[in-house]
Amino acid sequence: MAGMLYLVPTPIGNLGDISIRARQTLEAADFIAAEDTRVTLKLLNHLGIKKSLVSYYEHNKTFKGSQILERILAGETCALVSDAGSPAISDPGEDLVKQCAQAGITVCAIPGPCAAITALSISGQSTGRFCFEGFLSMSKKSRREHLDSLRDEKRTMIFYEAPHKLMNTLEDMTQVFGADRPISFCRELTKLHEQVLRTTLGEAIAYYTENPPKGEFVLVVAGAPEAEKQLPTSTDAAARVEALMEQGLSRKDAVKQTAQELNLPKNAVYAAALGEEA
Ligand code: SAM
Repeated sequence: MAGMLYLVPTPIGNLGDISIRARQTLEAADFIAAEDTRVTLKLLNHLGIKKSLVSYYEHNKTFKGSQILERILAGETCALVSDAGSPAISDPGEDLVKQCAQAGITVCAIPGPCAAITALSISGQSTGRFCFEGFLSMSKKSRREHLDSLRDEKRTMIFYEAPHKLMNTLEDMTQVFGADRPISFCRELTKLHEQVLRTTLGEAIAYYTENPPKGEFVLVVAGAPEAEKQLPTSTDAAARVEALMEQGLSRKDAVKQTAQELNLPKNAVYAAALGEEA
């Protein structure tokens, strides 16, 4: 009988955030697949757990993924962890889950720390609708293409970012979203120097020019404001009446239909059609 893959979230800073179930799953697994075995070993030592570790990271994931799959198919249980946070969210676990799903292996996700959700909840931005955009590309061209595709995005947007790329990202975001767009910088979450800076893109550039960015960041950017609905003007009303009359409607019927279409009082449309103020 095939084993299982467990996705085990680990603390993003504060070791106290490991859950009882996460700990039990690590203890019970036959082996642990880790993004960086040295990082995971520190956590296991802290938890007093001794377990066989295999490395599974971006550059060995194809080869190691097949080996892990074989072991699970042979009946072993694997716990997958990333360096911090929820495996498979902007880290290589995504591919292992796809491979397991294709092979009919049961995957069980243990809920727990995730930098994106922790940041969103503390950001002060709207949380009702949001999209997760992960990391922007290092290449300026792809970064701009990614941001351009979000120009009219109305949902709150969540990005992961490294400190040395932050200024370039802010400059590109300002060009696409405008200097007034609200943004929250959620830095070093759950750690000693946790900081949430709620500001605008323009002000952030000034701030981080003075205070060079350090540590881990999640950027939570407000969505595009709803475009203000333009109210129809008397010129719009007059033009519509004229167009309908040209189609053969009487002035009375053209005024009635225009009033309905533009949601305006009939006397205002009538006055507009005659070139008068209502
Ligand atoms: N899978 C992990 C998760 O979703 O929690 C994220 C892995 S991703 C490779 C690492 C990125 O998550 C960092 O570059 C940073 O943007 C964000 N991150 C992780 N820990 C963080 C923390 N304590 N505070 C702020 N951002 C953090």
